[in-house]
Order: sequence, then C-alpha cells, then structure tokens
Amino acid sequence: PGGGDYVGRFAPSPTGSLHAGSLVAALASWLDARAHGGRWRLRIEDVDMPRCPPGAEAEILRQLDALGLRADAPPSRQSQHGARYAAALQALVEAGRAYPCDCTRAQIAAAQAARFGPPQRHVERPYPGTCRPGRDCGTAGRAEGSCDRRAGTGAWPAPAPGPGIRPVAWRLRLSDDAALAWTDRRLGPQQQDVAALCGDFVLRRADGLWAYQLAVVVDDAAEGINHIVRGEDLTDNTPRQILLQRALGLPTPVYLHTPLVRGPDGEKLSKQHGAPGLGLRDADEVLAALQAAGRVLGLDLPPGRWAGSAADWRAAAVRAWATRWGPGAGRGMPDRM
Ligand code: GLU
Repeated sequence: PGGGDYVGRFAPSPTGSLHAGSLVAALASWLDARAHGGRWRLRIEDVDMPRCPPGAEAEILRQLDALGLRADAPPSRQSQHGARYAAALQALVEAGRAYPCDCTRAQIAAAQAARFGPPQRHVERPYPGTCRPGRDCGTAGRAEGSCDRRAGTGAWPAPAPGPGIRPVAWRLRLSDDAALAWTDRRLGPQQQDVAALCGDFVLRRADGLWAYQLAVVVDDAAEGINHIVRGEDLTDNTPRQILLQRALGLPTPVYLHTPLVRGPDGEKLSKQHGAPGLGLRDADEVLAALQAAGRVLGLDLPPGRWAGSAADWRAAAVRAWATRWGPGAGRGMPDRM
C-alpha cells in the first residue's frame, strides 16, 4: 500500500513525557505519513495502567501539539480496547492457537534449567512449553507439577482464580515453523527463530493485563495501520507480531525501525533511565528539538541556526524525507540514518 492508502501512527506509552528519543519515533512516523500523502494517527498505549502516571498522556499531547505534529484523528487509547483484545484471544483459543498457562516463574525457570542447563546472565531462554496442551515436557516438568495438570478447561475466559485455582496467563501456541524472515525498510532483510528465542509468548498476563504484542497487533489492524515507523529497540518484537498477525488472519504492515538516541553511557535514552523531558517552552526550543531529532534521522537540512519558522523546518523535513523514503525513492541506500 502507499499514496492515499497510507495509514501510519505514533503509539507512545504514557509512562512519562516525550524525550529526545521518543521524539525521533514521533517525528519519523509523522514525516513518513506526510511524505506519502497518508494519514497519521495517534494511539496512547496505556494498556499497562500501573506504569502510567496521571498527567503523562496530557503532557505528550501538549508536546506533540507544540511540535506541530498533528494527528488526523483524535487519539485512541488501549485502556478502552479490552473488548477488541478479548475477541482476538477468543478467536485464537477457538482456533487452537492460544492456551492458558499457570506456570510460576520458578516452574518455568526449573523447566528451562532441565532443558537448557543452568541460567546464563543476559541470555533469554524460550518458554519451555510446560503448559502447552498435548506436550510431553519430560520428567522435569512433571516433577514441577506443571505438565500433567491443565490450567482450567482451556476455554476463554478461564474460571476466576480462587482456592486451588491459580490465575492463568494466555500464550500463543507457535506453529511448527516459527522461524521468520522479514524485511525492514531501513535495516533490510531480517530473520528470527521465534520458537528458539522466546517460544510460546504471552498474550494476556496472569494479572489480567493485555500483553503489548497482542494489543499492538489487534489495534494496528483495527485502526487500518499499514505502515509502522518506530524505534529500533522494538525490531526484535516484529517477528512475534507478524506471527500473531498470521494467526489472526490479519495483514502485515510495512515496517521501518529508526535509529535510537543513546545517552552518554551508550544506553538507549529512555524514561526509565531518567532522560530529561523536552522543554518546548518557546519557538527556539521547539526548533532545537525538531532539529536534533532530524539529525538522528539523517535528514539533509542545513545544520545550525535555522532562519525560518518551525513550520518551514517541518515542510523542508518532509521534502528531505520524501527524497530518501517517499514513494518511489531509491532503496538500499547506505545506512547513514
Ligand atoms: N508503546 C510502545 C512504546 O512506547 C511503542 C509501540 C509500537 O510503536 O509498536 O515503546
């Protein structure tokens, strides 16, 4: 899809205000939509409400407004999409593609140790399938008591937790071929074996919160999003999301993952690491923030003091973006963005 069919989005989690890093994703997704003559939507990813301080959403909306990044429709909010997510999970359960799991962290760790050996720092290991229906998970799983028992009936919604009934998470049952190849517009061909990396991943957590993977896939489809532009830290999630799209019979959008802004310690700039919010108190600060984000995106615009207004800068940035990433622009250019 392209041209007038283009629908893109920015989907911030309101865990804090925008900072230099999240602005890069906001600006890139806005530029790409404008360069394609498409629509740009905003979705507030407040599905994890406990992590969303009051006021953060209003602050993000105020910042985007100050930056002149205006969406074509009022924002949607994940906290209001529970019915959508439940319908998707129900469909997966009925298709035999989702199952309940009441493994504790300790049970998962024990089964992983039995299968893969002692844990290693920074090495993520896949869910060992201990609750996967019809699976013989070996003596370790059985010894842990997490293989023979089944978490409820397997029907969604599961019985309410109570005496003797533990709360259940819901997992996607990966198909046998979960090794995936896909192409990112900027990073080029990518591949990941989802089964080896994370295994049957969580769609709904045992505490009732919807997992990011399910929420983002269901919302992108429901909102007609066909182009996703977001930070490179999310690249690893894309194969999981594509598998989930296929399991739900949904189209796969086109992806572009942008470079990250790193702090002095080389770590990704994030709210968790205390990245300073953007001031945006006056026109100079707005321009400076846009220009800094533009530099990360490799936009070919005059450095230093910009003589025009922020609106002029945005217009020039859309033209510069279109040259590299717009419809018909050359592909496979050296990756200096
Ligand atoms: N809400 C996610 C975040 O702020 C982004 C999700 C996405 O763009 O897919 O990190």
